[in-house]
Amino acid sequence: MSLRIDELSSTEVKTLADEFETAPLQDVLAWAWGRFGSLAAIGTSFQGAGLAMIDHAVKAGLKFPIFTLDTNLLFPETYELKQRLEAHWGISIEAVQPDLTLDQQAAENGPELWKKAPDTCCTIRKVLPLQRKLAGLSVWITGVRRQQSDTRDKTRILELYRFDDLRELFIAKMNPMANWDRDAVWAYIKANGIPYNPLHDRGYRSIGCWPCTHLAGSGENERAGRWTGFEKTECGIHTFLGESI
Ligand code: SF4
Repeated sequence: MSLRIDELSSTEVKTLADEFETAPLQDVLAWAWGRFGSLAAIGTSFQGAGLAMIDHAVKAGLKFPIFTLDTNLLFPETYELKQRLEAHWGISIEAVQPDLTLDQQAAENGPELWKKAPDTCCTIRKVLPLQRKLAGLSVWITGVRRQQSDTRDKTRILELYRFDDLRELFIAKMNPMANWDRDAVWAYIKANGIPYNPLHDRGYRSIGCWPCTHLAGSGENERAGRWTGFEKTECGIHTFLGESI
């Protein structure tokens, strides 16, 4: 369940976030497991940082629940990767589904909503399912890195957000990979033989739904290939909570 403010104050969060900047990844993850157990869960879209983080958790015996947002529009390579990772680590990864099937979404909003209103499409297929999932958690652990884009460069390793104003409930968001760079992530993945999305070897640096993922130029940031042709740079899952407190 979401947190009450007396369970984790904003002052404590700020102190811990500073300490975590220089702490080993496994210590940061162990703190979350020790304090919250399975009320802390890892959300992943199978980007490199998430894979390196999950590998640390599995090897340390930290049995966080792990989930992914299945928009029903992921690349075949991504669905296949999910199965390969589950076999590699001997775990199960929950595929959180939207309320609407693609056919229901097309009937209500017209076909190929991602072409005319990607924000609405992301809300239906990612943000609302995530909100439903987070309502049962105290800590959401992500693979967000500062280096990924301008919108992520202020990310703290531990953050606290209002989640439900009416009931005064909060959620902690933990981004243990915030200070990792891309080279370190991929060096770890290769050194530890972790399965990864073969689309990376074809030049894709950030991989989401197939209609909204394109190759980015080498001089652009890692997420530049997402929603090409729109102002959009974030799907909303990392922005709907507003400002951290
Ligand atoms: S990334 Fe594209 S296809 Fe996927 S939910 Fe968002 S708008 Fe829809």
